[in-house]
Amino acid sequence: MPSALELAAARFRRELLTNERAAASDMVRVYGEAWRRTSQRTADVQAQIRTARLTGQSISPAWFYQQDRAETLQAQIEAELRRFAAYAEESTTALQRQAVTAAGGHAAGLVDLAAGVRPAGLEVPFDVLPTAALQDLVGFAADGSPLRDVFEQIAPGVAQRVTDTLGVSLAAGLGPRETARLLRRQFGAGLARALTISRTETLRAYREAMHRNYEANDDVIDGWVWLAKLDTRTCAACWAMHGSEHSLDERLNDHPNGRCTAVPKLKPWRALGVDIPDRRPVVEPGPTAFERLPDKGQERVLGKAAYAAYQDGAVTLEQFARRRHSDAWGDTLQAASLEALVGRELAQKYIRAVHEALRRRKLADAVDS
Ligand SMILES: [Zn+2]
Repeated sequence: MPSALELAAARFRRELLTNERAAASDMVRVYGEAWRRTSQRTADVQAQIRTARLTGQSISPAWFYQQDRAETLQAQIEAELRRFAAYAEESTTALQRQAVTAAGGHAAGLVDLAAGVRPAGLEVPFDVLPTAALQDLVGFAADGSPLRDVFEQIAPGVAQRVTDTLGVSLAAGLGPRETARLLRRQFGAGLARALTISRTETLRAYREAMHRNYEANDDVIDGWVWLAKLDTRTCAACWAMHGSEHSLDERLNDHPNGRCTAVPKLKPWRALGVDIPDRRPVVEPGPTAFERLPDKGQERVLGKAAYAAYQDGAVTLEQFARRRHSDAWGDTLQAASLEALVGRELAQKYIRAVHEALRRRKLADAVDS
């Protein structure tokens, strides 16, 4: 049974994500408008080709790259994406502002619950940081670069890939529908990336704001406890970290789209000079909670082969928590691959066994029907 502290942390997070989802659906809409204008441009190029063919000109793939056609198209797409970047930056900055403001109240609420059961009227002294002390978190990404730059970095790559895709599809003689599908996929990758940035940077600003509030109250706060969302969409690494205790100079770095929170760990009342029994809530370690998850759920989190290895005792859940460094996101957590944990040979053995079982089940199904 999760403690009141864990439930409150989850509730605060949900509140934050409600704002984030509303902003995300606006971002999807604005990106959709950019896509409509872009697909109009690509359709224009395709129409020019049809006209050229009808007037008897021979159309080679090089035609598209002549007379700056490809270059112009690429510049137009880039301009669309830069306009979107401006919108994404504004939207994410607004989310971050809400998040760091909410963080102070949330931190105070969590500290109160982290104190546990105590006589009525006995409060934990806690000072919420003024919002001014958190301004540097608003409008900036993890590496300190302005959010505008981060969103604008999406533009050239996507514009290039869309243009190249059109060139390739012209060379291959693909029909307009197939071409549109390919273009949409290339263009859509930019939206997925923008949504991940927005969400991750909002949550990071929130977490960092909470963390600074904890640090500012280190006379009563001892450290923090890692909370993951314990469901089957959470990766093995986050499951493994759940319940682990950390000092205030450590930061919770999960990974892009991560769903983890740091809740405060209070000093025992006796250390604060109050002689009452220690009733601080205890967070059950992730690996213990994981043991209780039904087999199907464990398999979904770990994947079939790693699940078989886990069942065999060849790996423990704790081992899946690995740190990796990425220039874009800094030091983050990542679920280790089975191969990294048990070596190639043994991993292959488990993978083959999974395939064999699947094959046998298909055969059995075929016989049944
Ligand atoms: Zn994870």
